Amino acid sequence: MKVIILLGPPGCGKGTQAEKLERQLGYKKLSTGDMLRNIVKQDSPLSIKIQEVMDAGDLIDDELIIKVIEKSFLESDCQQGVILDGFPRTLIQAKHLEKMLLKNSKLQNAKLDVISIKVNDISLIKRITGRFFCSKCLSGYHDEYKPTIKDGICDQCGSKSFSRRNDDNEETVKRRLENYYNDSVPIIEYYKEQKIFNQIDGEQTMEKVYTELTSYL
Ligand code: ADP
Repeated sequence: MKVIILLGPPGCGKGTQAEKLERQLGYKKLSTGDMLRNIVKQDSPLSIKIQEVMDAGDLIDDELIIKVIEKSFLESDCQQGVILDGFPRTLIQAKHLEKMLLKNSKLQNAKLDVISIKVNDISLIKRITGRFFCSKCLSGYHDEYKPTIKDGICDQCGSKSFSRRNDDNEETVKRRLENYYNDSVPIIEYYKEQKIFNQIDGEQTMEKVYTELTSYL
């Protein structure tokens, strides 16, 4: 079984590519960002704390995120393979992932592959600050690159209600990028040493990125 780690800065396209891999190849996508956004929807002191950290563009504590991902690994059907989107994000998380795989009998034979999607900061900020989605069917759009066909109406379901992520504003994106360079880039060196690291140019079309990505599987 394969465990694919998608690395890369916020807005590089990890989520989109992970979704496509899930749809087309039957891999199970485990996205820590989605998991946290689901926790935030529930009303609890923990969800308020998580919301504050995410809105600031900072990282959730390693201990908590490790619990969340471990639970999700155990509950998911991972037979075809797993794509990790948004985890690991720190060296501590990367080291814990290996322990977690060894500990779990279902995952002991897992083979790790790391694919990083590289995009420059200016493109990332433009991509993230322009994105929005339909509140009803969650179809994704972009002010400039992918507007709705009819102004203010979702192409897919006709809804007139749209949302943006709280953390998709310029100030928070800059903070998210800063955290990415400080906390997540060191993981790249760690995986390079293990010779399981690959990198893709994420400025290419989504289709080209996907084709290149699948060539590493
Ligand atoms: P992006 O990759 O665009 O930043 P995500 O949806 O992956 O978006 O993550 C959104 C936020 O969730 C992050 O800014 C961070 O606060 C939190 N988060 C997600 N994954 C992790 C993780 N592995 N460790 C710590 N915090 C995380």
